[in-house]
Amino acid sequence: MYDVVVVGAGPAGSMAAKTAAEKGLEVLLIEKRQEIGTPVRCAEGISKTSIERFFEVDKRWIAAEVIGAKIYSPDMTEVVMSEEMAGNEVGYVLERKIFDRQIARLAAKAGAEVRVKTAFEKFERVGDKLKVQMRCIGEKIEVETKILIGADGVESKLGRMAGIIRTLKLDEIESCAQYLMSGLDIDPNYTYFYLGRDIAPGGYAWVFPKGENSANVGIGVLPKMAEKSAKEYLDRFIEKIGMKGKIVEFVAGAVPVYGEIETAVADHLMLAGDAAYHSDPITGGGIANALAAGYYAGLVAYEAVKNNDFSAEFLKRYDKLWKEDFGKKLRRNKKLQEKFLKMDDETLNKLAKSISGKNLKEMSVQAIVKELLKAHPRLLWDLKDLFI
Ligand SMILES: Cc1cc2nc3c(=O)[nH]c(=O)nc-3n(C[C@H](O)[C@H](O)[C@H](O)COP(=O)(O)OP(=O)(O)OC[C@H]3O[C@@H](n4cnc5c(N)ncnc54)[C@H](O)[C@@H]3O)c2cc1C
Repeated sequence: MYDVVVVGAGPAGSMAAKTAAEKGLEVLLIEKRQEIGTPVRCAEGISKTSIERFFEVDKRWIAAEVIGAKIYSPDMTEVVMSEEMAGNEVGYVLERKIFDRQIARLAAKAGAEVRVKTAFEKFERVGDKLKVQMRCIGEKIEVETKILIGADGVESKLGRMAGIIRTLKLDEIESCAQYLMSGLDIDPNYTYFYLGRDIAPGGYAWVFPKGENSANVGIGVLPKMAEKSAKEYLDRFIEKIGMKGKIVEFVAGAVPVYGEIETAVADHLMLAGDAAYHSDPITGGGIANALAAGYYAGLVAYEAVKNNDFSAEFLKRYDKLWKEDFGKKLRRNKKLQEKFLKMDDETLNKLAKSISGKNLKEMSVQAIVKELLKAHPRLLWDLKDLFI
């Protein structure tokens, strides 16, 4: 019998387990893979503040530190943004193999029981608790818990079983492919983003440096707009920009770009991170929100145990916390994404040209949109209330 069972040892799950265990709860954290943190399905970019609000940074987690982002429109017009402005995905490029493992270790240090190679299968309500069935190396295990936290990623089985989320449609998810490449000739001080329907329909391509001439080179495309697989677009992109280097790893994955869900709770249940579609609809970045959501889920689990109230009504205080933290940004960026999807390559070139060369270090995101609005009022007018 546990107070909390957490499914999935990504950033959201380990953070939830760590927080709940630090509050003195009996916590079980399960992970279906045999190793936490691998394979890495992530470009590993995150802002410094998103990490530093929760942890003292350990140099072992950091593969590279960047000072800004360079964004390229389809005709390669360059827009340079400083780190403070470039959003949740720029500042550090992590070594997630180490980072994810370390948060799980901190959860264990705080008293959580951690089980790898243990997959959640189903749950049922029995009286005022849940019976949770899981499978560990062929063996069926059943435990009881007061609270179940689903942090099982983009295809959350738990979230769908609970009826909180449904399978995503082809325009609500980005399909991604990424190589880790070495032997590259790039400036390691920046992350690079390449836009355009031709390069990445409904998404973008990225190059995130990882030190020693290596980088995560990847692409995300919206399946509804794409005619080929993400990997084919990625190969084409690498050829187009003439990138020379050796491929040392390949991963494919998906990111929800849904926007804000109404609720991430049900009786006895909370969803956090990608399982609750907490990733950003414009950038696809989700580590920062996963950490924050996991933290809030752990806190609310503690309050629920203290009050002996596991109803959805009580757990809605978790919704309030994550929505106050990043809900507005999810809503705003969903609107921006919808606008972005309608833009052809010519429009993107026009927008980039109007701000290329400006000193964006001294401008806020609002100021940039204001600047773009001045140059293209008709194009962006419906966004004015969201950004100004
Ligand atoms: C190619 C790519 C590039 C990306 N780049 C970035 C980036 O640069 N910056 C950024 O911020 N975000 C990025 N993201 C998104 C980011 O990786 C996710 O938002 C983040 O990992 C979400 O964390 P999470 O804890 O919610 O889920 P995950 O990290 O997906 O963790 C979920 C865990 O649950 C486990 N699990 C699943 N089902 C079960 C089960 N039944 N039983 C037990 N365990 C289970 C999984 O094995 C996994 O370990 C990228 C994603 C992709 C695909």
